[in-house]
Amino acid sequence: MTELDRQTIETALDERLEELRRTRAGMQRESEGGLSGEVSHVDNHPGDEATETHERELEVTTELFLEEEERRIGEARRALAEGRYGRCLNCGAEIPRARLAAMPEAVRCLDCQRHFEGLHNQHHSLDPDR
Ligand SMILES: [Zn+2]
Repeated sequence: MTELDRQTIETALDERLEELRRTRAGMQRESEGGLSGEVSHVDNHPGDEATETHERELEVTTELFLEEEERRIGEARRALAEGRYGRCLNCGAEIPRARLAAMPEAVRCLDCQRHFEGLHNQHHSLDPDR
């Protein structure tokens, strides 16, 4: 990997991290606003409770997803710093350039990522009927 490649990837990772943080900060502001709104309307809209619970669940799911994404970017940055970037964390296979170009935070080959996400989703499943 050339120095230019490394810088390009580092920039791409930083941009994604920045984007993630903005999204998360926006979500936090939104839920704070929603909370104060809820207090003033609580007696007028008893039927909204189910909807709000559902929205909150979606928010938690998104929050988990964003957290996971941020963690992966951190892993990719560390791999880059240690010269391991571009190789699968699990099996050591070289990650295809096309995959890295599309997803610079990829730290696993496609097979290992699928396996990893399968385990992860089973473990964190909030809705076993889905
Ligand atoms: Zn692998």
